[in-house]
Amino acid sequence: MNLPLIDRAKQNEDKIAIVASEGAFTYHDLLQISAQIATKLLDNVEDLQEQRVAFLIPSGFHYVATQWGIWRAGGIAVPLCVSHPKPELDYAIADSGASIIIAHPDFETVLRPIAQERNLRFILTSETLPEAASLLPEIDINRRALILYTSGTTGKPKGVVTTHQNIQAQVTSLISAWGWTLSDRILHVLPLHHIHGIINVLTCALWAGAQCHMLAKFDVQKVWDRISDGGLTLFMAVPTIYVKLIAAWENADSDRQKIMSDGCTKMRLMVSGSAALPVQVLEKWKNISGHFLLERYGMTEIGMALSNPLQGERFAGYVGKPLPQVEVRLVDESGNLVAPGIPGEIQIKSPGVFLEYWQKPEATAKAFRDGWFCTGDFAVVENDNYRILGRMSVDIIKTGGYKVSALEIEEVLRTHPEIQDCAVVGVADAEWGERVCAALVLKSGINLSLETFRSWTKERLAVYKVPTQILAVEELPRNAMGKVTKPSVAQLFEKV
Ligand code: AMP
Repeated sequence: MNLPLIDRAKQNEDKIAIVASEGAFTYHDLLQISAQIATKLLDNVEDLQEQRVAFLIPSGFHYVATQWGIWRAGGIAVPLCVSHPKPELDYAIADSGASIIIAHPDFETVLRPIAQERNLRFILTSETLPEAASLLPEIDINRRALILYTSGTTGKPKGVVTTHQNIQAQVTSLISAWGWTLSDRILHVLPLHHIHGIINVLTCALWAGAQCHMLAKFDVQKVWDRISDGGLTLFMAVPTIYVKLIAAWENADSDRQKIMSDGCTKMRLMVSGSAALPVQVLEKWKNISGHFLLERYGMTEIGMALSNPLQGERFAGYVGKPLPQVEVRLVDESGNLVAPGIPGEIQIKSPGVFLEYWQKPEATAKAFRDGWFCTGDFAVVENDNYRILGRMSVDIIKTGGYKVSALEIEEVLRTHPEIQDCAVVGVADAEWGERVCAALVLKSGINLSLETFRSWTKERLAVYKVPTQILAVEELPRNAMGKVTKPSVAQLFEKV
């Protein structure tokens, strides 16, 4: 049996699949080159039998052909992050027990020594491929397909293992919810070691028989050029990307602004996710693009779970309702369901939920309760829509007996006329348990005293939510996905 993704591609052979810096490639090209890569990987064995293949390739056709080649040879794909330093690459390679590394020549200097030290097979994407493809193995969809490394708040990153069946469930849920069709054209600007770029953009596009236009890396001007050129129907990004696009639009002259905005208007859907979308960003983007961003909530371990509707009303600050095939519940600390309006932990059951943390049976068992995956995220249902309150471990601050949501405080602080951006954290405190602290990116030339800040904030938030300590920073610490890394923010206050 072929993988369904491959069978579907065979129905669209003549259609363009990928447009990237290397050129335009049809589904036929993708099938042919990925079969040749699979043949090279197999090296005369019948099936890689779930050997892990780590690969580091910039976004583009070769990334996709390699990922498919690994799958078609029966391997597990372990995509590495192009911006990670050597120790982090080495960690993912060692932890996954990869037996093969595939690298773009740009990464040869960093990866070849790792392959040599660990005695692994090393392949460059520039090497010639076998001319004819061999007979490829049949792959059962219940086999492992992908390991994505995801950081918890403590400890080293864990490898999240999804099967081909999990991926199929994640993808088909989004295809039906967001109305993907053969005629869609999406601009891909996200990292390809993370679920957002791999599943929501790339694999959904290829499953649908659509076109995926890939930028080798995010570049704000290139993104605007591509949007302005027209012809795109879909765009998906994280909030920090929308912030950068807004800043570039604001700096453009009015003729250019009009062209940029017209390019957006022609698209059918623009999506935001992977971190909370500040309401102000949503409002600004609406004015620029005419799009009320569709915000959704998901996680590497579960795929996407909650989404605002494609058709129907979307609510700012909310992530909507459960997606097709996904069951969602909110529970309190004792595991009891909470009533609407009461905050609880998000738990998920769906065919898209991952199989296991790679070689960590205890961590896997701990992550589930009665078959429900415990996300560690807090949310509340208001008017039938979910509002995310943040990660229990870092965004839910316990201060003086109250539980407060960092995301809720941040949303208010961003409306302060002198605050450009902010991150709120809880810092251990002998008297309060945790005290609420805020790192602030101030508009240029501004000096904000704690006293004026607090009196402004007290008019808008209950006094126990008002940060007791503030720190002006040039920029907030972020990870490769552009998400604020809260533990690093908390450390800033521990040092003070
Ligand atoms: P990752 O596994 O890297 O995609 O990170 C998943 C985490 O991102 C979730 O557990 C949430 O804490 C956060 N997240 C994802 N989408 C949203 C959203 N729309 N609003 C707030 N937090 C989000």
